[in-house]
Amino acid sequence: MEAARNISKKVLAFDVDQTLNIAKTPIPPEVAELLAKSLGYFEICPISGQKFEQFLIQIVEPLREAGVSGQQLTHLHLFVAQGTQYYRYDLEQKDWTQVYNYPLTEEQIAQITATLEAAARELGYWEEGKLKPGDQIIENRLSQITFSALGQTAGTEEKYAWDPDMKKREAIVAKCREKLPDFLYEIGGTTSINVAAPGMNKTFGMTHLMEELGVKQEEILYFGDMTQPGGNDYPVVEMGIDAITVRSHEDTTYALRGILGILG
Ligand SMILES: [Mg+2]
Repeated sequence: MEAARNISKKVLAFDVDQTLNIAKTPIPPEVAELLAKSLGYFEICPISGQKFEQFLIQIVEPLREAGVSGQQLTHLHLFVAQGTQYYRYDLEQKDWTQVYNYPLTEEQIAQITATLEAAARELGYWEEGKLKPGDQIIENRLSQITFSALGQTAGTEEKYAWDPDMKKREAIVAKCREKLPDFLYEIGGTTSINVAAPGMNKTFGMTHLMEELGVKQEEILYFGDMTQPGGNDYPVVEMGIDAITVRSHEDTTYALRGILGILG
């Protein structure tokens, strides 16, 4: 018989969209409550392609509403933009501080922006005329560039109707890959394409997480909904971190209830 495996985990890491919430919305109260409890036992690390402001809206505010204190927030670690930016809570300043940031270089930003625009224009998918005033198609999120075909503020229905089978975005990505093959392309949401520098996927984030928190790979338990090969959580599985695949935040709540139940 094999010796009992050491299952003591110090870190619970979570993908955000479809793992802790319904994509792009704040985490539901029951998830906030379970995460609040988990902060008493684990370091909690959400990691997603979203920007910092979205982490505040989707995760931190609901935790505050669930009664989480500043002291508890010191165990929450925000791995923003796939972990290319890391924020933690400073109890004295009562605010979030950026621990590190690996932004794209000016040259990479210029290359990606020009390539996306050229590809969309060539294919007839450059929808500048449909933008609301002040909105933009290509947004610089520092560690990644995001293409949103109809801008950030378009209506949900309009966005959904634009590319329901992803064919337009797949065509844009295929064209971009011809010019910038080594960059990372991820189709997300309803109209978006995220582009990041080579190597900037969740492996980068998890590697830095281990370094910053001083934990070993086997001390982490990861939750994600896209753990299959090709999914944006797969790099975490591939590096050998224990992972729980969930279909939605409801699966995550079952799993967390189980874990917290054992801990009493
Ligand atoms: Mg997800």
